[in-house]
Amino acid sequence: MYQFSEPFRDPTGSPIRELFKYLGEPGMISVAGGYPASDLFDLDGLQHAAANAWSQPARCLQYGPTDGLPELKDEIARIMRQRGVSVTSTETMVTTGSQQGFDLLLRVMIEPGDVVLTEQPAYPATLQALRMQRARVVTIPVDEDGLDVARLTAMLESGAAGRPKLLYTVPTFANPTGATLTRERRAALLDLAIRFDFLIVEDEPYADLRFAGEFVPSLLSLAEQMDGARERLVYLGSLSKIVAPGLRIGWLVAPSDIVRRCVVAKQTADLCSAPWLQAIGAAYLAEGALQRHLPRITGVYQRKCAALCDALDAQLGSVVQFQRPEGGMFVWARMDGIDASALLAQAIHERVLFVPGTAFYADRVDASTFRLSFAAPGVDEFGEAVSRLARARQSIQNG
Ligand code: PMP
Repeated sequence: MYQFSEPFRDPTGSPIRELFKYLGEPGMISVAGGYPASDLFDLDGLQHAAANAWSQPARCLQYGPTDGLPELKDEIARIMRQRGVSVTSTETMVTTGSQQGFDLLLRVMIEPGDVVLTEQPAYPATLQALRMQRARVVTIPVDEDGLDVARLTAMLESGAAGRPKLLYTVPTFANPTGATLTRERRAALLDLAIRFDFLIVEDEPYADLRFAGEFVPSLLSLAEQMDGARERLVYLGSLSKIVAPGLRIGWLVAPSDIVRRCVVAKQTADLCSAPWLQAIGAAYLAEGALQRHLPRITGVYQRKCAALCDALDAQLGSVVQFQRPEGGMFVWARMDGIDASALLAQAIHERVLFVPGTAFYADRVDASTFRLSFAAPGVDEFGEAVSRLARARQSIQNG
């Protein structure tokens, strides 16, 4: 009989992907997945880019270099310059979504039992990848200003955080909390990485989706101005939330010796990301289409976020706590005394989907939390979504 490898003997799939089966049900409103609004995809811009890319069909159809098509790497360098960072070609590679970047990095850096620090709550696919790699996950709490850096400092100084190799964070419009790490905390976090000698993985798929508040520079751009910090930063970028996830275009920026090893790991993962999609992405970016597209989508997301938060205030204001995000796709909420998984079971009957907080905790689960995404539903659907949620709450309280 066959035998599975140790990490796959008892597989737990993504709890969010488990909800997909309900998505097609008639009348269902989903505030669950981190899906961009598909009616906002820039079809004309992408069609134009695809036609341009096809002017060299053999290039699109042939294998490409493992680290990515040079024209896409050039465009990524341009995006990074706009984000305040200069990168060389050997410090950058294209990945099949930023998820692959994280997966490759773990394969290159992490041995079973190595300590990796994560935010709590954190993006579930990150936790899943860490579990597969047999990392020892140590969680750091977050508040409305992102990672609690004072707490992290205390944990590092007392030894409670072990001797970490990596710290994973989504500092801007985090998944799931929507919170953004303040500039002061960013500087303090970089200091800690130098002092305690660990790598920071900065996952930044949402930063361009800002619709309120002040711009905060990335950890990587702040690290450029601080001696000894830059070589402690690994940056993950993605076109998924700002152009389209179907392109599966992400990138990793890191010191060249890390990138070189991630490229070797990618050779065994998929040889190269699809050149056809990379060529479309490169042409799209070269045409300046992203700069035209971003204000359009952030304007819509701003209205959707307001509609969701206003509905929560109006219909559940006395029982739900949440913070209005300044960008991204998520609202993180808490209903005291309610088990969000039980609430979801009832909400499915009421035809509304969300993600219970359990999915985002590596330990010490707060079962009363849940994540709502405002990206995909229509702006006029949130009032109904929240009244269904309120009915579901009523039912479990009565029942
Ligand atoms: N990081 C975070 C924080 C995310 O929310 C997501 C997508 N939900 C990803 C990475 C994965 O993005 P990609 O499509 O680029 O793999």
